[in-house]
Amino acid sequence: MTNIDATHHITLQSWVADANGHAEFPIQNLPLGIFSRGADERRAGVAIGDHILDLGACVAHGLLGGAALAAARAASSGTLNDLLALGAGPRRALRVALSAILANGHRAQDLAASLLHEAARCTLHVPAAIGDYTDFYAGIHHALAVGKLFRPDAPLLPNYKHVPIGYHGRASSVRASGVAFHRPNGQRKPAGSTVPDFGPCRNLDFELELGIWIGPGNTPGTAIPVGEAAGHVAGFCLLNDWSARDVQAWEYQPLGPFLAKSFATTISPWIVTPEALAPFRVAQAARSEGDPQPLPYLWDAADQHAGALDVDLEAYLLTPAMRAAGQAPFRLALSNTRYAYWTVAQMVAHHSSNGCDLRPGDLFGSGTLSGPAMDGCGSLLELTEGGRTPIALPNGGSRRFLEDGDEIIFQAHGTAAGAVPIGFGACRAVVLPAPSPLS
Ligand code: CA
Repeated sequence: MTNIDATHHITLQSWVADANGHAEFPIQNLPLGIFSRGADERRAGVAIGDHILDLGACVAHGLLGGAALAAARAASSGTLNDLLALGAGPRRALRVALSAILANGHRAQDLAASLLHEAARCTLHVPAAIGDYTDFYAGIHHALAVGKLFRPDAPLLPNYKHVPIGYHGRASSVRASGVAFHRPNGQRKPAGSTVPDFGPCRNLDFELELGIWIGPGNTPGTAIPVGEAAGHVAGFCLLNDWSARDVQAWEYQPLGPFLAKSFATTISPWIVTPEALAPFRVAQAARSEGDPQPLPYLWDAADQHAGALDVDLEAYLLTPAMRAAGQAPFRLALSNTRYAYWTVAQMVAHHSSNGCDLRPGDLFGSGTLSGPAMDGCGSLLELTEGGRTPIALPNGGSRRFLEDGDEIIFQAHGTAAGAVPIGFGACRAVVLPAPSPLS
């Protein structure tokens, strides 16, 4: 497991003044990303307060050496795949070096200050070329709530507490926060009708998930032991697995989600490293007394002891009417990463257990991480009980599902005693009208 070191120290402050006390990116965070300025090429950077430090420029000016230099050079191609492939050692060395450069009193402070960009003037991109995207179903409260809608007497299917359920998602439509997307068209079969029609999704939903960036990965035919899986996790983000519920209900049997999910996935663009999240590790606690013992390939004592994360997750809705009136986004959910039934290491071990190779820059979604109560629902499907119970909005409006112009905004924050709180940065996107259906 990752350890606490000087880079986490609560008294550590940065000469980048807006980083001190910053809700997302204090010097204890240092997430990695890919940014551009105007039409400039894509560059690697680290978030510090309201600024971005250009990693390539740090290399060019001789600010980095050793393993940190190797790590920064691996980030110079416009994607972070090669950096993710290096694994924990070089990534930690880069963190230690960047922490020193950005800390109060560094000798090259003036030079480094000239390599900062205002984040508000930059565009953040999907930070890696995603080879494969896999979505799990590890949120136990989501699985229970959705299961209850369809099977009140037996909400969880018999496999749920034995096998981390997942499906292969679509990598091409993963977009960075801020990129609007069109409501999908699809086949829908209204209740009471015997035949489907084709048109704009009527039940568009969000899913509040933790995204997981894969690091080195495995060669085909080998499996990653659960005890070594943490070494293959390069970082985390927020992930919105937009879902067309009406399309999903009609298409999903017998092979699972297809076009109801593949039209768009939104992620927060910063890769928050396992090192940054070290203070927010907790014991795995989502299992209940009497639950079946997982098979040995999914069980590691150290992973159970500290392999879960305690990060608050929030989902907000901003409607066109609220935006026009200058109102603040309305919070739909406050949940937490603790509500994952499987640890990230268990997901990695399970995914590779059949010999399937994971590659640097692959992306996992945790599954919708709802809390145990209604104020923690990580999807409208749960919040409105399948659309039957609309939610009331503070401006007098209501929603069953998302309407055109609606924006969903996720936030994530780690807080722990003795640690500086850190955030993931926003994961947000606006729903645009559906394109005219093909006739
Ligand atoms: Ca999902």
